[in-house]
Amino acid sequence: MESKKELEQITNCALCGNMCKDSCPVYLATGNETVTPQKKARLILYEEKTFLKDEKGFFDVMFQCAMCGACKVNCLYDNFDLRDSIQEERSEAFKKGILPEEIRKQVEIFAKFGNPDGERQLIQKGAGNLGYFVSCSTYNDEPLLRSVEKILTKSGGQVQEFGGADICCGAPLYYAGDLEGFKKAAEKMKGEIEQRKLQKVITNCPACIKMMTEIYDEVGIHLDVEFIHITKFLAALLKEGKIKVNKANATATFHDPCILANDIGITTAPRDIIEMLGFNIKEPVYSGKDTHCCGGLPGGKIGDSKLVASVNAMRTSELKETAADVYISACPTCKAALPNINMKDIAEVVAERIIDG
Ligand code: SF4
Ligand code: SF4
Repeated sequence: MESKKELEQITNCALCGNMCKDSCPVYLATGNETVTPQKKARLILYEEKTFLKDEKGFFDVMFQCAMCGACKVNCLYDNFDLRDSIQEERSEAFKKGILPEEIRKQVEIFAKFGNPDGERQLIQKGAGNLGYFVSCSTYNDEPLLRSVEKILTKSGGQVQEFGGADICCGAPLYYAGDLEGFKKAAEKMKGEIEQRKLQKVITNCPACIKMMTEIYDEVGIHLDVEFIHITKFLAALLKEGKIKVNKANATATFHDPCILANDIGITTAPRDIIEMLGFNIKEPVYSGKDTHCCGGLPGGKIGDSKLVASVNAMRTSELKETAADVYISACPTCKAALPNINMKDIAEVVAERIIDG
């Protein structure tokens, strides 16, 4: 722990009445008190005071976190984000080589291929200073990528599409605590954007945007580029009449991706799009800033695949309660993590309804 302020903040959290506990998805999915925000803070404080004997057990708890930010949004203190301290402990775990197995495998794949997936083709299409970055999660979702390409073509503007190969924002390394590896990925991404002379970059993945707008700055890498989440781009296209759509006559539930709602602050644009498509929105109990994280995929932000499955199942059953005709999200990882609810990405739903011609 680097500063007195940080020690004070983590002590306040350790002594808090766990006021945000009922917003924490890993607690709600398991009922395990140890993984609640306040108990995590207490363990961090104990570790700081060297009271703890089971170092591996301690680091495992640091990886039993979806890094979703619900505890930040629901914290009774201003300007406190427990994830900062959890992230520091993840870096310690990485330095000491005490990582959960699935996270360790992910870091190894990244070290070899420069991305979390393995061997990949480079994507480079189009031209101009407006970019579309194919995130790793979008690269792995062919129907989604084709949908975005259809929308970009129909919108009539010039867009330079890029991604694949070893181009990645570095989020998997950040969440694994590999800060040096993350910095290298960030420097590479900065070079990729600068060599293409891009001024604005659209992407589907909220984590890419968080990394490139917030975390790159924290590690001293500055990009003079505007990043636009696809929901903002699509909402503008529809409002300006640059694409025309057939209206739906159905109900839809929107699952707010945690980083999109909690870190980027976008909750209105997706709902505007869904309404402009003609759907009648059925909100789940936990929506907007009260959303619950989907849990992601194994080897992602949570280091325990059983816990990932529990959080996936909890969010699926929460969403099913609305009994909507269509379930929509705006993060390719959420779509992949919630396969039992027939989730579609918002770009796919727009592309399906575009009027040709
Ligand atoms: S994150 Fe905030 S609300 Fe949650 S336990 Fe810590 S201090 Fe309390
Ligand atoms: S970031 Fe999310 S999963 Fe982690 S402790 Fe906070 S609320 Fe729980």
